[in-house]
Amino acid sequence: MVCLIVFVAALGALLEQANSERRAETHSKEIVLVSNDVSKHLLDVAQSVIALNTFQNPIVYNKFKESLSVTKTGIANLKTLTANDKDKRKRMKRISALGDKALSFIETYGENAYTGNTGANFTVFKTELKAAYNPFISELHDLAEQEKKLTANAEINERQRTKKLNTFLTIGVSIILLCMFFASMYIKWIIGRLRLMMSNAKLLARKEPLHSPVRGSDEIAELDGVFHEMAEALLAAEQRKQEFISTTCHDLRSPLANIQVSLALAAKGKYGELNDKGVERFAKAEQSIDRLIQLLNELLDAEKMEAGILELEMEEFDLAEAIEISVDSVKTLADNSRVTLEINDTSSCKVNADKARLIRVIVNLLSNAIKFSPAGTAVNVSVQKEGTVYDVRITDQGRGIAPVDREKIFDRFHRVSENTGPSGIGLGLTICKKIIEAHGGSIGVDSTVGSGSTFWFRLNAP
Ligand code: ADP
Repeated sequence: MVCLIVFVAALGALLEQANSERRAETHSKEIVLVSNDVSKHLLDVAQSVIALNTFQNPIVYNKFKESLSVTKTGIANLKTLTANDKDKRKRMKRISALGDKALSFIETYGENAYTGNTGANFTVFKTELKAAYNPFISELHDLAEQEKKLTANAEINERQRTKKLNTFLTIGVSIILLCMFFASMYIKWIIGRLRLMMSNAKLLARKEPLHSPVRGSDEIAELDGVFHEMAEALLAAEQRKQEFISTTCHDLRSPLANIQVSLALAAKGKYGELNDKGVERFAKAEQSIDRLIQLLNELLDAEKMEAGILELEMEEFDLAEAIEISVDSVKTLADNSRVTLEINDTSSCKVNADKARLIRVIVNLLSNAIKFSPAGTAVNVSVQKEGTVYDVRITDQGRGIAPVDREKIFDRFHRVSENTGPSGIGLGLTICKKIIEAHGGSIGVDSTVGSGSTFWFRLNAP
């Protein structure tokens, strides 16, 4: 920027100098021109006087007067042109005085010659005229010569200046190009650092380790330092939250399990006979405790998966077997909801996966499908092999899921906005997603509101 300002200022100064010299040159040329004109007109005046001496003719007289006037105007112009320069002004004063003397002498003689009243010998007049005329012409000539010299010098200067200007422009443009190159490198460097920060922000959102801090001591490095500190603080807070949830869940689980056992024993009459109402109440209380323990387990698992400490126990097994076990475990729920379970041909679908966790996914998807299916409808399970991928689909004829909720239902604690179905805390699908992704697979849903949904997950064949 500074280079650019210096360059423009120097260029401006050079151009200004060139302009002022060009003006001076034009001025000199004008002086030369007017001087030559004055000399020429003075010659005309002299010729007219000689002619008047012989013919007292009005035409010659008029020509004489006209030339005289033009010469006077020329001298006045010269005075104006030299007014701004002290030396020239002084010189012009002298020239003008000589001119006035010569012109006044010629004018008087001319008037007398026209009226035939010269009274003097013409030869004498010519000698006197020469004496008045020559110093004036000689001074005028000198003035013109001096201005010619100035013009010639100005031309030489002009050539030198053009050369200088060319060199200056070449150097200046090179410097500007160099500055632009460095500026673009600098901008690239800044953008690179900003990109690194953007990438850090994405990594933080994915809870992945950040890039090492941006080096330097400028604002970007400072901002990145603050970002790293914030990320560490967030990580620490997340850790504290996980610790809190896991201790609370563990602390709650044992007493709840004790209560569950006591309720089960009481319902079985271990602590004395209960009437039918009592048995029913105790059984419901036991179910509620069971559900509470299940929720705590889900919460614990979700936290573990969120923290990335999900360890898979991989084994090779047939998907058909996992589906069968899952269907068996939701059979009572399906019967109670009067929903039929249909299994399409699922034979010989070998996968390498954590069996217990995969069963958990299928059970979760099946339970949801049953929960949201109207009585008298069917839930269908199918497996298809597409290339090297197994595509497991669980289809229901329930209320369906609106497009706005389809992506979000896999997020933690997300339940659809108009949830009219059975209550839950919105962790089931999050756990399913984590388990499938931990296997390198993908999970999703296709749905038409009012017609039903198909939850699917895809796993690679071994
Ligand atoms: P929840 O414990 O609340 O069931 P999920 O993560 O399993 O949590 O499900 C999240 C939400 O997705 C549910 O509350 C429900 O609104 C919606 N959902 C899940 N499965 C289905 C389905 N088969 N049909 C309609 N809605 C469903």
